[in-house]
Amino acid sequence: MLAPHLHRFERDDRCYVIDTHTCFCFECDRISWDVLEYYPREPVNRIYHLLRDRHPQKELEEVVGELEWLRVTKAILAPLDDEAFFKKAVYAGGLKKLTLAAASLQEALSWLNRAGLLLLARSREEKDITLSLRLDTLNAADWGQATVVLAEIGAAARLAGKHFRLELDIPFSPFPETIMKKAGCTFRYRLILSEASFLENLVGGLTSLNGKKPAGAFKTLLENGAVESIRVGVRPDSETFHSVVEDLHKAGYGNIVFDLPGVWRAHPCLAPEAVVDSLEANILYYVDQLLHNAPFRVEPFALLFKAIHNGAPMYRADPSGIETLVADGEGALYPSLPFLGNPRFILGNLTEGVLDETRCEAFLLSGALQTPECLRCWARGLCGGGHVAIHYARSGDIRHPDAAWCDAQRRWTGAVVAAFNRIASVGINFDHLAASMGPRTRRFSLLGAAKALFKGQLGLRPLLEGDATVLVQWENWNRSAYFLCNETGALTATRYDREMDALHPPPYRREWILTRMNGTPCGLLKLQPVPEKQMARAWLYLHDEELYAKSALQHTLQTLLSELCREGQLRHILTPVTANETKLAAALTAAGFVHAGTQREALYRQGTYQDVDIYTYSAED
Ligand code: SF4
Repeated sequence: MLAPHLHRFERDDRCYVIDTHTCFCFECDRISWDVLEYYPREPVNRIYHLLRDRHPQKELEEVVGELEWLRVTKAILAPLDDEAFFKKAVYAGGLKKLTLAAASLQEALSWLNRAGLLLLARSREEKDITLSLRLDTLNAADWGQATVVLAEIGAAARLAGKHFRLELDIPFSPFPETIMKKAGCTFRYRLILSEASFLENLVGGLTSLNGKKPAGAFKTLLENGAVESIRVGVRPDSETFHSVVEDLHKAGYGNIVFDLPGVWRAHPCLAPEAVVDSLEANILYYVDQLLHNAPFRVEPFALLFKAIHNGAPMYRADPSGIETLVADGEGALYPSLPFLGNPRFILGNLTEGVLDETRCEAFLLSGALQTPECLRCWARGLCGGGHVAIHYARSGDIRHPDAAWCDAQRRWTGAVVAAFNRIASVGINFDHLAASMGPRTRRFSLLGAAKALFKGQLGLRPLLEGDATVLVQWENWNRSAYFLCNETGALTATRYDREMDALHPPPYRREWILTRMNGTPCGLLKLQPVPEKQMARAWLYLHDEELYAKSALQHTLQTLLSELCREGQLRHILTPVTANETKLAAALTAAGFVHAGTQREALYRQGTYQDVDIYTYSAED
């Protein structure tokens, strides 16, 4: 039997609900909790009847109305047809990451070429591929020979249309020795390079990583653009690692990743509940920092938040044997790092160029949708069926999760949901946050540019949940094209609608709020690209009409639009203007728009048909 669609749970006297199919979750009050005991299993009238002694019918109707709204928008109870289920259950991708684990670069060198060929040959449709060098020590002087081979692999990857990255995975000490002893963890840095040509520039930086101030060396490498990102890998060696994220963050490390499969491989007898206690302490610190506007990245926390926010469950957490392979210093191939050195899991070898497909197939059957225990488990969308290495370490069978570990894992999933709700309830915009957590690239940031453009005049930021009240006041019975000439044009909105817009913006639309320099909202900007036609629809609304006349707005609007066109590869932007919006029309004209035409009698309002003018901005002009 599958896990119920909606799962309720309590934590610290608070009630939460999670949709086990979409991972949409929310904190609910007591009345919603009671309704959800029966919803959607029972007919609505029966729910009212069953709860008639506990809650007034009017309030019950409100709760059911909100749940129905979530259902209509497919946030909850979205049906998954058989074909979609099959697609999610069966993995059909290629190899994304190959790790070469060796004592030194010298030892790795003899396998580097074959490892690169294997990665390219088995990557199939995957566009982003990574070759990881996991070394016990790094001698920067050995780079000369390695750069030649890596440049060859990089060139072959480019010819195959792939984006090739190199990762260096090296042990290091992030703290002075006294703190290291207290930390009780093993640390490694994982340095990502996007272009082999950067390798030569890296040699000096690598030497400084072994020095006394690695945090400073990380910063310099990132600022120089020699590396794309540097993560600190943490493998706790005991159950008590409550403050490791805090210690690392305070020491200047802003990109941290827990190696949880590695923990269980190295220490299979740790108490799962105690490990979760420590993880909870770390996620609490992380959330506190996010709430204090100090975004940094801790995995797997940030990935889990993103999965909940995007409503994108992760049904397969473990890429072992399919998306990842590991080669050791003798060329033997394993499914992933936790299996390294275990002869039972050798899948082939680089020496003879052999990979046993039947042994690899066992790993295709992992993941939450192919494991009977997981199909019955409410946490499957965020746990993803756990890691086969953990199951093997705890139960001796890669396909059989250990019950005690799963109990703790479900408690951990509950902690993640509660932590997410703390962030979501104060209106942190996750698209913005996720972007700031992403790997460092040289891509243009529209939001960053817009902030700079409007500097000194107006501010620009994503919608927040807390904007809902003012948005509803602006929108209701407002006759501007911003609210009338769109796919709904309903002229009425509820605070709940606008909160949902901020928390779960539709993927096809981007919307920002314009603010005065004191932070007060003063307008809205919305963009809806139509990529196949290389065009976008845009809407602009300023609550105080006098702002349209500001020359700074017109000038910065023009610059912003040209960046939007460049970033989104758009040729035209179309904006509707109603007959009463003469000031908007003048501002658009000053910003480079031209009047493209009139949609005759396109708008039915107050008993008459009215024209709508269309202004167009062309990237080519
Ligand atoms: S591994 Fe355990 S906790 Fe994770 S989804 Fe499966 S049954 Fe649930």
